[in-house]
Amino acid sequence: MIPYGRQDISQQDIDAVVDVLKSDFLTQGPQVPAFEAAVANYCGAAHAFAMNSATSALHVACLALEVGPGDVVWTSPVTFVASANAARYCGADVDFVDIDPVTYTLSAEALARKLATTKAQGGRLPKVVIPVHLCGQSCDMEAIAALAEEYGFAIIEDAAHAIGGTYQDRPIGSCAYADIAVFSFHPVKIITTAEGGMAVTNRDDLAARMALLRSHGVTRDETLMTKPSEGPWYYQQIELGYNYRMTELQAALGSSQMARLGPFVADRNRLADRYDDLLAAFPVITPRQSPACYSARHLYVICLNLDEITATHREVFESLRSAGIGVNLHYIPVHLQPYYQALGFKEGDFPVAEDYYQKAISIPLFHHMTEAQQDQVVDALHQALR
Ligand SMILES: *Cc1c(COP(=O)(O)O)cnc(C)c1O
Repeated sequence: MIPYGRQDISQQDIDAVVDVLKSDFLTQGPQVPAFEAAVANYCGAAHAFAMNSATSALHVACLALEVGPGDVVWTSPVTFVASANAARYCGADVDFVDIDPVTYTLSAEALARKLATTKAQGGRLPKVVIPVHLCGQSCDMEAIAALAEEYGFAIIEDAAHAIGGTYQDRPIGSCAYADIAVFSFHPVKIITTAEGGMAVTNRDDLAARMALLRSHGVTRDETLMTKPSEGPWYYQQIELGYNYRMTELQAALGSSQMARLGPFVADRNRLADRYDDLLAAFPVITPRQSPACYSARHLYVICLNLDEITATHREVFESLRSAGIGVNLHYIPVHLQPYYQALGFKEGDFPVAEDYYQKAISIPLFHHMTEAQQDQVVDALHQALR
């Protein structure tokens, strides 16, 4: 089976992890700050906080922005469930904004319309909006940030797919148009730490809160304490935090992977461009790119032109799987999940996302994929579409 995504672990990565195993610190040593500095420096962001997953980072980001009961957070229905769940962990409500029919990312126009109608009807405006950089391509952040200014919401970019991409020539994660951006280092993503994630921000106030919240709400910083230190052993818990820390082993792997980020993303773009050429005459829509974006190309999603073929979406998918092609579907719209249906969402609520779901297939793309593997995918797709 050619997987839809797969990590690439070098001997250098293995050596970096083994060195940590032989060192004094398996957690809370020098590797985590070094990895954080590497990512912050790459993105041009002031602060970075490594955590045990992007899901944890999204949770902490919401808490740092004081999302709580009575608040509502808006995100895209075409995302992994974690983008929405983060708000639910804080006791907030979730709502969705339909996707753009061309790029499949959260639509800035749909957001503008929903904000205007919500305001006109005296409804609850979002405290936070979480745009998702689907497949590694940035949302239209300039437009979304202008709406944030007008309506007074904060922005957390779910950049789980997108490290190594750019928007308006700035690295994703620069936070030029966001309060916080979050990366994932799950093995199928662009670089990996096995499990792992990171939140980046330029805001000192949010940085201080995220540092606390990822580690029990405990501080050794006297300026944050309610009274003077009682001695060198002293610490205070000043909030209810979590243990969301990343280990030293993971951070060493992350730093080692980070050194190859540029080539990883370049290879993904080369392969994606090659798919574009090979599939040009197929009855599919290949991914369309905004000129403002250089995508990290986490996923290569095709949409079937169902009017032009006799096979169904499911038949094409099953035929590819039985030909040994590890296709996938990113994503089942979140509002159609039973958990969210129980909260009142129903079919028909987000028609563009639902239409996308009827046609989309992620075909394999990972940076060390060979052209022979790619040809095998294209041949199998050719057979499946006949
Ligand atoms: C993978 C992913 C997450 C969650 O990342 P984890 O590191 O697995 O917690 C969140 N959002 C999106 C869009 C993702 O693809």
